[in-house]
Amino acid sequence: MTYEYRCKECEQTFDVIATVAEKAAGIEPECPECGSKETAQIFGAVGILSSTGSGGGFDPGPPCGPGMGAGCC
Ligand SMILES: [Zn+2]
Repeated sequence: MTYEYRCKECEQTFDVIATVAEKAAGIEPECPECGSKETAQIFGAVGILSSTGSGGGFDPGPPCGPGMGAGCC
């Protein structure tokens, strides 16, 4: 897992790679910029995957059949 943190000292943001177990145990990442441990995790908006697949509005047109004009089928 990758967790995003921001340094409270210098506002630097950085990624911390840790396992879920490590995260649960509590990790204190150091700021790579100034070495401060005054960091806070950033809970970004993860998982905003808009899916507009409900259909609607698309008309496939009339089915082919006898009496249809040229160009049918
Ligand atoms: Zn810093």
